[in-house]
Amino acid sequence: MSPLLTALMLVFAGGFFAFTMLKRLVPLLALRREDRTSRAGERVAGLLRFGFGQRRMVDPEELRPGVMHVVIFAAFMILALRTVTLFGIGFAEGFHLPLLAPGSPFGRAYGFAKDVMVLGALVCSLGFLWRRLVTKPDRITLSWEGNLILGFIAGLMVTDMMFDGAGMLAAGEPAAWWAPAGSLAAALYRGLGLPAGAVHALGAGGFWAHLAIVLTFGNFLPYGKHFHIITALPNVYVRALPPGSSALRKLDLEAEGASFGAQSVKDLSWKEALDVYSCTECGRCQTHCPTYVTGKPLSHKEVNRAIKQHLIAEAPELTALARAADPAAREAAAAALPAITAVVPPETFWACTTCGWCETACPVFIENIPRLVDMRRQKVLVDSELPDEAARVFKNIETQGNPWGIGSNKRTEWCEDLGVPRASDGGEFEYLFFVGCAGAFDDRQKKVSRAIVQILREAKVSFAILGEEETCNGEAARRLGNEYLYQLQAAQNVERLNAYGVKKVLVQCPHCLNTIKNELPQLGGRYEVVHHTQLISRLVAEGKLRPGRAPILDGQAVTFHDPCYLARHNGVYEAPREALASAGVEVREMPRNRRQGFCCGAGGGRMWLEEKLGTRVNQNRVDEAAATLGEAGGVVAVGCPFCMTMIRDGVNETGREEKLRVLDVAEIVASGLVQLGKPGAGAPAPVAQAAPER
Ligand code: SF4
Ligand code: SF4
Repeated sequence: MSPLLTALMLVFAGGFFAFTMLKRLVPLLALRREDRTSRAGERVAGLLRFGFGQRRMVDPEELRPGVMHVVIFAAFMILALRTVTLFGIGFAEGFHLPLLAPGSPFGRAYGFAKDVMVLGALVCSLGFLWRRLVTKPDRITLSWEGNLILGFIAGLMVTDMMFDGAGMLAAGEPAAWWAPAGSLAAALYRGLGLPAGAVHALGAGGFWAHLAIVLTFGNFLPYGKHFHIITALPNVYVRALPPGSSALRKLDLEAEGASFGAQSVKDLSWKEALDVYSCTECGRCQTHCPTYVTGKPLSHKEVNRAIKQHLIAEAPELTALARAADPAAREAAAAALPAITAVVPPETFWACTTCGWCETACPVFIENIPRLVDMRRQKVLVDSELPDEAARVFKNIETQGNPWGIGSNKRTEWCEDLGVPRASDGGEFEYLFFVGCAGAFDDRQKKVSRAIVQILREAKVSFAILGEEETCNGEAARRLGNEYLYQLQAAQNVERLNAYGVKKVLVQCPHCLNTIKNELPQLGGRYEVVHHTQLISRLVAEGKLRPGRAPILDGQAVTFHDPCYLARHNGVYEAPREALASAGVEVREMPRNRRQGFCCGAGGGRMWLEEKLGTRVNQNRVDEAAATLGEAGGVVAVGCPFCMTMIRDGVNETGREEKLRVLDVAEIVASGLVQLGKPGAGAPAPVAQAAPER
């Protein structure tokens, strides 16, 4: 015990810690404001489940490291009381926290829990060291810092045991059930035959070393990736709540002095800065990232690291910006900041398919898609530096209301012979069938639109389409950075839908679903939106639809490819499988399915861009489907027009036309209806593997 030494240690370490934290946090005041205080109940529940409960850590794919992390986290939580007690003992011998007196029932219960966690954390920290030094999994960053931190953790556990063991021997109680770790240390002292003086010295050494490690550890955290130990829980609390990154931030394009994207680090929000501080560099975001897996220069983890180092390097300029009072001083301080492309090159943010895997996998809820889209917005709206293919797509949407640039007057050719009702006819309808550009203009997807009409008629669902009044939802334009064009398109659709008093919208495209459901509310459009696979599943459950075995399958095996914007972005995993089951299909799952589903490569507007770097994402997925279906081949079922195109392209590019067919869930179900001899409004035409069209 030494009150002076303890106080000196606390003052020095505490002062240095406060100094570092100010250096890290003050620059955040210069960043974009963002309110993350709403829905407090949901935030607290999430904090308990994902922060303290570590729910994402114990993902089945990462069970062993996840459990080891949970044990260390729990040990830290429980040892926090012990650390306070030890500092108290530094000031006064025999100090203990209320209710935790040694020998009291609570004290013994706490002592037992604490010692179990000490032993668990010691074993797990050694386990992590083994992973880093021997097994070296691809996803983790092998730095000296990680080893040092594990050394700190193991050191904390060992010094705690040294202190307790010595105390137990001094008290003449060499073993106790409530102190298994201390008993182990006492047994070791006795086994080594150490004299009382040596045991006392080791106990005192353990005590002071423990305090020194705690303070050094705490001060070291803000300097490396283990800053997450401080920021992760707050970051989980202020996480994006659903729909999160599935609904991008609406830019106010009329506002004076508005920023139209991320030109420099000052255009990121404070939350995005907290995100990069919180990255643990665990690499879970990479495991199913289509860009990382196919060798493109984008890894969520690496982007975080680059932005974090940049934030730290630019902290003086950001601090000056935060302090600048008048507009001229603010402008000068902002101009001193380098462009963010200095650390996140354009090929990085153009590569993202916005598939959402990284955000779903991240245990600390780091957001990635909005900031990458903000970087695209800067390039498109301000710098006019964008891929030629993107410029062409924007022009097509502007002039014809669809990305192909096909005459807008051809939007209803797909259903000319079906007599499909229009909303403008003035009749009553339950669902507005938003056909989407692919469903109206893409020859392959037109067959899916027809199959959906057949199903709706079979189930006697009343519906109507907008026909030529429908226009592109602008989703691809928005995710390619053209917020201006997106808002024009979205406003037109909202105006039409609201004019007809639409309440329920049926879509066949998960991108339409996401935009209409999650993004149109920003422009005054609020509707109940269902994907066709959801509606089919519901109609079957209600007994309104009874498909038989689908002859179109010809007895072949079927696998299902989860569309990112239906599955991860909107949580619809089972409906397509239920719809397939209703047609007698037993889905043979690919290894990467449901939440782990692998992107087809088309999201984020990538459907319209050349894929020049690395290997092709769609071929990676087709290889997996082919391996799942085996030598005999079979059918890849999809529920998205983009997936349809990308998977068919992949089949053709890998020369598997003879083995693999790609069918939409609606085509399979509609085929079952035909088999039952129940006439629909137009059976789907035979599906051929025509040349890909984009
Ligand atoms: S972004 Fe999340 S998942 Fe990726 S390395 Fe950082 S903490 Fe891990
Ligand atoms: S959204 Fe998908 S493609 Fe983009 S970085 Fe994340 S995992 Fe990779």
